[in-house]
Amino acid sequence: MSTEIMKDIICPQCGVSQKYRLYTSINARENPELKRMALEETVFDWRCGRCSYFAAMAYPFLYMDPDARYVICVTPGGSGQPAEPTEAVKDFVKRRVKNLAELKEKLLIFDNGLDDVAVEVVKNALCTIIKSKYEAKRVHAYFSRIQEDSMEFAIFVPGRPNPVYHSTRLEVYKQSQEVLRALDFMDPPGFAVVDARLAKSILEQYQAT
Ligand SMILES: [Zn+2]
Repeated sequence: MSTEIMKDIICPQCGVSQKYRLYTSINARENPELKRMALEETVFDWRCGRCSYFAAMAYPFLYMDPDARYVICVTPGGSGQPAEPTEAVKDFVKRRVKNLAELKEKLLIFDNGLDDVAVEVVKNALCTIIKSKYEAKRVHAYFSRIQEDSMEFAIFVPGRPNPVYHSTRLEVYKQSQEVLRALDFMDPPGFAVVDARLAKSILEQYQAT
C-alpha cells in the first residue's frame, strides 16, 4: 500500500493556504501512476492552485516494488537515518538514494533486470574516459537504457546544461559482473548505498588481488 499525508502549506508567492500531498511510501504495484511520477522525477512537485507558483519539496520516503522485489529509501541530501528494513522486505534488494534522479536510475536499472553494483563498476570506467575527454574533475553518469548490445548513459558534465549521451558495450557489463564474482561480492546489509564510491572501492579491492 502507498501511504500519503495531506499537509497545509502557504504559497510563498500569493499567500493562499492549501493542501500538499506527501508520500511516505510508494508501492509501484498498487500505484503505477506514482511509479510514473518517480520516473518523471515529479514526486516532490507542487504547484499553487491559485497563482501557479511552482515548488519542488524534498522529504524522505520509501519506494517499493513487490513484484521486482526491491525497496529504495529516498533520503534527500543524504541526511537522516535510513529506515530499518521490516520483515516483509527482508529478501528484497534494499537501496538508499539521496534524490529523485538517483531513484529514477535505480528503477531503470532494476526494471531492465540489471545488477546496479555491476552498473556502477561500468560507470566508473566510463566516467574516467569522459573526465579526460571533457577535462572535467567530476562528472555524473546515470544509466538510461539498453540498446541492442550496448548500455546508454546520460552524463552530466559541469558547465553544460544538457547531458551528453554515451554508450558502452554490454560486454563491459559482463566483465563487471565477473569482477564481482571474483571478489564474492555480497550486498551490504540494510539499505545499501550503491554508488560511485562503492564501485571505486570494489575496483581497488580487485586490483589488489
Ligand atoms: Zn500561489
